[in-house]
Amino acid sequence: MLIRKMECAKVMDARLERIREKALNGDDLNRDEIKFMYDYASLNSLGSIAREISQEISGNRVSFVSNLILNYTNICNVRCHFCAFYRIGKEGDSYALSEDQVLEEISRYYDKYGITQLLIQGGVNPSLDLEYYTSLFQSIRKKFPGLGIHGLSTSEISFISKKSRMSVPDLLEVLRKSGLETIPGAGAEIFSDEVRKKIGRPAGSGKEWLSIMEDAHAMGIRTSATMMFGHVENSLDRADHLLAIRDLQKKYGGFMSFTPWNFEPGNTKLQTEYGINHRAGGDAVLRNIAISRIVFGKLLPVIQTSWLTNGVPMGQLAITFGANDWGGTIYDEKVIPATGREVGNLRKETIIQSISSMGMMPVERDNLYREIRTYAS
Ligand code: SF4
Repeated sequence: MLIRKMECAKVMDARLERIREKALNGDDLNRDEIKFMYDYASLNSLGSIAREISQEISGNRVSFVSNLILNYTNICNVRCHFCAFYRIGKEGDSYALSEDQVLEEISRYYDKYGITQLLIQGGVNPSLDLEYYTSLFQSIRKKFPGLGIHGLSTSEISFISKKSRMSVPDLLEVLRKSGLETIPGAGAEIFSDEVRKKIGRPAGSGKEWLSIMEDAHAMGIRTSATMMFGHVENSLDRADHLLAIRDLQKKYGGFMSFTPWNFEPGNTKLQTEYGINHRAGGDAVLRNIAISRIVFGKLLPVIQTSWLTNGVPMGQLAITFGANDWGGTIYDEKVIPATGREVGNLRKETIIQSISSMGMMPVERDNLYREIRTYAS
């Protein structure tokens, strides 16, 4: 029995070594190889390969951005089963911020913390029309010229396009002219329709995410990519998700970064009606970081820690497992606290300290991942 186990371990080591060689060579990994990494490979070995690739890409540099997340409305007609943030509009705590309220909120942080990126997204609110967004973005750019607007999920873009009877490319052009700079990766979850049905996403919305991102990339608008894991998906679903992102990245190179983040069950339908009570643990978090680094390599060179859902120490660990971007500062974010999980605020100084205490060099970047300045490690 012991000899069989040792032989089995040798076969697995040999398989992982072939994967390592392919990844370092820039060769594409296939679905079976990705599934093998999810189901059988040792976490430490994956981390070591992922770190080797990161070292080649960015050495000891870890970037971060001075970011403000602004959730302008929590009213949403999509009602995903994994979301604790949305309201249908009748509850006492449902809200939609006016333009003045948004500007006031930004001005509380902009100068004080040197914010350079505004991540602005909310629910799919049927009462807001295109003019709300164009006027808002124009005013933000006018009043805060140093801010890059990273705004609107594909769900919001899809709805505004239907409501305003414009094609997605035409809408994106209007939004770009109004000040939208880049698009966040929210809404990707897992692309499989089977999975999306169970988590309360409309059928076809995975393909739609990819199609809107492709439209944006074809026009030169850069975006982020994400994957939400730790709910009802399996390792093949995750492999297919990564492969779909890799295929699109090969066409235009429009994704600036990839963030795998774990589902937070608190106060969601997936918890109350489907009994998913626990978030994925540290092994899954680090495995997803490492595998995404190994799969994407230099093609999609920025892998972001999902510290927001996992805390600062896990953010640091993610760097040793292949991540090379911390993400951003946080001031009064509202989506994660809706699950009952407190994230607090995270200021620039804490990020710099968290990165430099690992012997890495913190690199402050802007919304387009351009270096602003470095800090001593
Ligand atoms: S995840 Fe986004 S689209 Fe889904 S219910 Fe929440 S706010 Fe709406």
